[in-house]
Amino acid sequence: MTIRINADQIIDTFIRYTTINTTSVPDNNQLPSCENQYKLAQLVVSEFSNVNTVETSINANAITVLSLAANSPEMPSIAFFAHLDTAPDNANDTHAVRVKNYDGKNIVLPATGEEITVEAFPELLNYVGQDIITTDGTSLLGADDKAAIAAAVEAIRYMVANPEFKHGDIKLVLLPDEEIGIRGAKALNVAQLNADFGICLDCCGIGEYVIENWYAGSAKMTFKGVTAHPMSAKGKLVNAVLIANEVINALPENERPELTEGREGYFWVNKITGNTVNATLEIALRDFKIEGYQSRKALLQSITEQLQSRYGHENITLELSDTYDNVKAGLDKKPEIIASVQQAMRNLSIEPKPLIMRGGYDGSVITPAGLPTVNIFTGAHNFHSTKEFLPAESLRLASEMLLEIVALSAQEVPA
Ligand SMILES: [Zn+2]
Repeated sequence: MTIRINADQIIDTFIRYTTINTTSVPDNNQLPSCENQYKLAQLVVSEFSNVNTVETSINANAITVLSLAANSPEMPSIAFFAHLDTAPDNANDTHAVRVKNYDGKNIVLPATGEEITVEAFPELLNYVGQDIITTDGTSLLGADDKAAIAAAVEAIRYMVANPEFKHGDIKLVLLPDEEIGIRGAKALNVAQLNADFGICLDCCGIGEYVIENWYAGSAKMTFKGVTAHPMSAKGKLVNAVLIANEVINALPENERPELTEGREGYFWVNKITGNTVNATLEIALRDFKIEGYQSRKALLQSITEQLQSRYGHENITLELSDTYDNVKAGLDKKPEIIASVQQAMRNLSIEPKPLIMRGGYDGSVITPAGLPTVNIFTGAHNFHSTKEFLPAESLRLASEMLLEIVALSAQEVPA
């Protein structure tokens, strides 16, 4: 195996990107939800300002495209995707720490004394002798998803520096606000990319890749009651809070996030506000099968109709919206994508670990929009936590994966 990506260089690139705080802001409806997502996009673009084979653009939504023209136009056009924002679970600035030559013991995060323990995270032992990037304990690391940006940037740098390496049109697309409803991917003009397939790097440890995720949507219900002074309320008062409670009671008892796993779907009642006059209820719906997802929507519809017939049509509303789809249907149409991911891993001596994801990623929006997009590892662990960590060798291999998949795209990889 030829080593194409330099570990020190990719770590430096990654750490440089972590210094810009791109925490997304759920309550801000602007896209991007924070200005620093532009700043990060500009930093990445600026690193290619002297490279005349790479064209760059950043639009008003911070959607950023770096395009490297094909040197072998007969080869497929591939789009790499990474998201600019980091999860709102912790908004502090990131101070990355490089633990050199990891010794197999608990890692102490220097600013807080908090520990990433081997007991809680035995996968640490897979990385003994390697460098591991953590934070100082006061923030997320943001390897989700800046590790992906670094991996894709270094893969493009390699292709620029090695013109004998054959490739089709290559694009790196940086998307804002994945963490708060995959908003950036929804604003992306997928057809304009003119790509044959896509690769997101937005998950998990080395070797892992997503073959399936679930259908996701949300429901917002509103209830209007009738006020009356409680001393003379009999026969008059209609309590909106209790109508909301009727909905909760009508949902299947065992289909909740805390009671489900694997391929099981759920209703997640995640917000209730109100008083006796007005109440609102928000429910997230998840299911791996389209029929299951549709029947969840149908159940809410029928609960709504029953309540409307009792309390008046105008007093009960239901608004359903789809958030993202299971990528399986789209990926199944092009089995050569998963086949080449697996072959790339074998070529790099990485054990392939297919995953079913109880969540979504940019590809869950991009795939149904017409561009089948798989999700492969960045190598990071403990996303959205101050204990997030990134083994340097895994990141280097994530970048190598991209080059390997490009190289394999010259030939038909049998599924
Ligand atoms: Zn992510």
